[in-house]
Amino acid sequence: MKELRYLNPYFAKYKYHFLLGIMTTIAAQIFSLYTPELIGNSIAEIENYIKSGSANPEFVKNLLFKNIVTILITTLIAAILTFLMRQTLIVMSRHVEYDLKNEVFKKYEYLTQNFYKQNRTGDLMNRISEDVGRVRMYVGPAVMYTINTVIRFAVVIYYMCHTTPEDPAVGMKLTFFTILPLPLLAYFIFKLSTKINQKSTIFQQNLSALSSYSQEIFSGIRVIKAYSIEDKKQEDFEKLSMESNEKSLQLAKVQAYFGPLMLLLIGTSNLLVVILGGMMYINGSIQNIGVIAKFVLYINMLVWPVASIGWVSSLIQEAEASQKRINEFLKIEPEIQNENFSPMDFKGNITFENVSLTYEDTHIKALDNISFSVKTGETLAIIGGTGSGKSTIISLISRLYDPTSGVISIDGIKLPEANLQRLRDSIGVVPQEAFLFSDTIKNNIKFGKENATDEEVINSAKNAAVHDNIIDFKDQYETILGERGITLSGGQKQRVSIARAIIKNPEILLLDDCLSAVDTETEEAILNNLESVSKDKTTLIVSHRVSSAKNADKIIILEQGKIIQEGTHNQLVNQEGYYKELYLKQIAEKEML
Ligand code: ADP
Ligand code: MG
Repeated sequence: MKELRYLNPYFAKYKYHFLLGIMTTIAAQIFSLYTPELIGNSIAEIENYIKSGSANPEFVKNLLFKNIVTILITTLIAAILTFLMRQTLIVMSRHVEYDLKNEVFKKYEYLTQNFYKQNRTGDLMNRISEDVGRVRMYVGPAVMYTINTVIRFAVVIYYMCHTTPEDPAVGMKLTFFTILPLPLLAYFIFKLSTKINQKSTIFQQNLSALSSYSQEIFSGIRVIKAYSIEDKKQEDFEKLSMESNEKSLQLAKVQAYFGPLMLLLIGTSNLLVVILGGMMYINGSIQNIGVIAKFVLYINMLVWPVASIGWVSSLIQEAEASQKRINEFLKIEPEIQNENFSPMDFKGNITFENVSLTYEDTHIKALDNISFSVKTGETLAIIGGTGSGKSTIISLISRLYDPTSGVISIDGIKLPEANLQRLRDSIGVVPQEAFLFSDTIKNNIKFGKENATDEEVINSAKNAAVHDNIIDFKDQYETILGERGITLSGGQKQRVSIARAIIKNPEILLLDDCLSAVDTETEEAILNNLESVSKDKTTLIVSHRVSSAKNADKIIILEQGKIIQEGTHNQLVNQEGYYKELYLKQIAEKEML
């Protein structure tokens, strides 16, 4: 229960639901006790009538009629109260589930890249859906049935002990013997529920493996068709599906024990009451059959709550394990945190001093003692082969990682001391892999500035040279992208992603190789537009093309995390080295076209 203590503040938050739930539970129990009482009394009256040979059947008839009506009314009230009990306690658990999901999701959003590298998406989704779901079973049903069981036990046992007012010892003795098998029932149900939960977890895991498999197939369907490996994939699917079928049969088998086990134990308890009660009736310690009838009804009222003790124990066990996993996530502190909340305006004066970065997980030294600076309004181009560390520089500026050593500062403020939120607000980044959401083109662009007007959206699309493509679509800016919509080409995606960064009108614009999939003419057009858009802004352009770099104020060439050349285009083409070679190679390619 240690881990589940985390939820106590939630119970406090919904204390009115909780208290009301307990009160309606008590009331429901009291009203449901009328039935066994009145049935027992009716039988007793009939027996008395027969025994005494009284000549007044009308009296018994009236009494029975009165009892039946009372039973109907009290049962109805008990039913309404039970409904209210669910409405308060189960509703409370749904509220807690909602709150907890939001809490976990919020935490996720704060965690850093390193966290996402260490945890698989599937696991993250499970925490938020399955684990939170299991915890809800504790907050809702487990708590509800526990309250229900405790109250019912207290009330029913009290009534059982008082069925024979003429000789209380008799009632107590009968009570003792009839509830004797109940702990056994709780134990068996606990064992069985634990087994059912285990099997059902295995089955769930199989199901999610099956759905991740299908999901990957559906997203990669073009490749699968192109390589014509549908049959092979079908076989794999059948194998997986067969496995999950086996698991579901195993689950069904264990579940099938539940009903018979219950019946067996209910039957045994009933039998015990009838045998013991019957013997006591014969030897005269019980004077009335009505008592036995009451006991049969009482014992049946206890069977479900007892079974629920077993079931609830296994629910709590599961919830504890789930809450433990959730707590582990909630405990993680993001290694990059904002420590400064004062308002700040950045002008985009960026300096790197002896910056090195070794990625923790791969131990790859991506940057090795890098120093450079870009002044407000300048454009810096970063050129280099794949894996030379270009994207790493971009991630460092928006502080997705902190450098292993060295200092990065903007306007003289060291990044760890800057207001992180404001820093990221002042940066417009176009990542190397454009990511668009399954939403309209307009919303994808407005992602950079939520309150942007349509005119601003169109303007930034024009500057990113994608407006003409967009108005060719039937729904234009309302065109839905992604799974339910159209798929953009690589170059179109890159340009929508550029529009998203431009619309933000940031002080610092970071373009990570985002023109790789557009042709040189479009590249030229975009660069021209950018020049006017980002006139007084700091711009970093990462590229492997000379054409992107030639107009920059400064160019740095990276190789294996080190700066091997730097200067302007004119300086670099007149120097032997990487840049000149690249320049000559790309000119030759252009002439061949
Ligand atoms: P570029 O953008 O120039 O292609 P990167 O900055 O992406 O290069 O990568 C530099 C080196 O760091 C590469 O060897 C790459 O494998 C490694 N690397 C890049 N990103 C990560 C990461 N998130 N985790 C671990 N290693 C990484
Ligand atoms: Mg890169």
